[in-house]
Amino acid sequence: MSTIYNFSAGPAVLPKEVLQQAAAEMLDWHGSGMSVMEMSHRGPEFISIYRAAERDLRELLAVPDNYRILFMQGGGLSQNAVIPLNLVGRKGESATIDFIRTGSWSGKSIKEAARYAKVNVAASAEASGFTTVPPQSEWNLTPDAAYLHLCTNETIDGVEIDFVPDVPAGVPIVADMSSHILSRQVDVAKYGLIFGGAQKNIGPAGVTVVIVRDDLIGHALPVCPSAFDFRNVADNESMYNTPPTYGIYIAGLVFQWLLKNGGVAAMEQRNIEKAGLLYAALDADDFYRNRVAPPYRSRMNIPFYLRDESQNEAFLAGAKARGLLQLKGHKSVGGMRASIYNAMPIEGVQALVDYLNEFAGR
Ligand code: PMP
Repeated sequence: MSTIYNFSAGPAVLPKEVLQQAAAEMLDWHGSGMSVMEMSHRGPEFISIYRAAERDLRELLAVPDNYRILFMQGGGLSQNAVIPLNLVGRKGESATIDFIRTGSWSGKSIKEAARYAKVNVAASAEASGFTTVPPQSEWNLTPDAAYLHLCTNETIDGVEIDFVPDVPAGVPIVADMSSHILSRQVDVAKYGLIFGGAQKNIGPAGVTVVIVRDDLIGHALPVCPSAFDFRNVADNESMYNTPPTYGIYIAGLVFQWLLKNGGVAAMEQRNIEKAGLLYAALDADDFYRNRVAPPYRSRMNIPFYLRDESQNEAFLAGAKARGLLQLKGHKSVGGMRASIYNAMPIEGVQALVDYLNEFAGR
């Protein structure tokens, strides 16, 4: 098979070495005679897989001891309900959740949270067509908000927040890092809660990672489903109910791969290089266009438009013929999008850049 590069936004490319190891271990994990898929989640084999995954993720992100790492189900979207159900109880019935609206995913979070609490959109980039992050000086934050929600990387709009905002004392920051977790260094201690669906930078769909500070656990509203109560999940090492075992196993292999390859700091350097290469090709002239203000351009998800959009189909067909797959933009915004997660090698980005130059007749 000739080389292909998969630019899907998620489920997305995984490291080849991880897939090879999973294939080798598929029928018989470490002499157990079982596939990981067949193991009891309460048996010593899976417990060892789970604990290694938890430990390695803790090391990769330098997660402080007063934070729990939960491997949940339901995807990123479910957390838009699960988080308010767990966090607003601290503040009582009149709780307000602050949001910064920077694109599609924060928009969805706002809509869902409004079912459980008062929401205050403290700032919105809608007027710019979601091409920037409103300056912090214009944020209209609630002094005693239950929390401030940010989507730190908008997967569809290609907008990344590269700073930790100043918030009123005691207001936890909740960050949807679905599409850039583990791609750059973060100071976990600055956040109350970090979450993300696994299917971009972590592993297969079906696992949702939640990193939550201890004091935010234990305040679930009575209507919160018990399997989504952070207290139950934390107290049972994510095994209050059967966790997505195979997905956690693959995530664990990805964590090992990251550690072997220099951890998050090394990934960040590679990601800066990869994104730099791609944006330079898009900016070379006006044949292509990325609309995002440069300080907020995502390193992971890079949407772009052809100057002549009647060439879109020809562009995609030519890309496919060269093994460059899944470049079509999200249906809500059109155009193209290249997602270049940790597992995308620089050779893949270079192959895309070569094609961009060729198609533009450079
Ligand atoms: N947040 C962000 C930033 C996302 O990119 C996505 C998925 N593309 C979601 C939330 C929703 O995740 P899921 O499909 O796992 O529910």
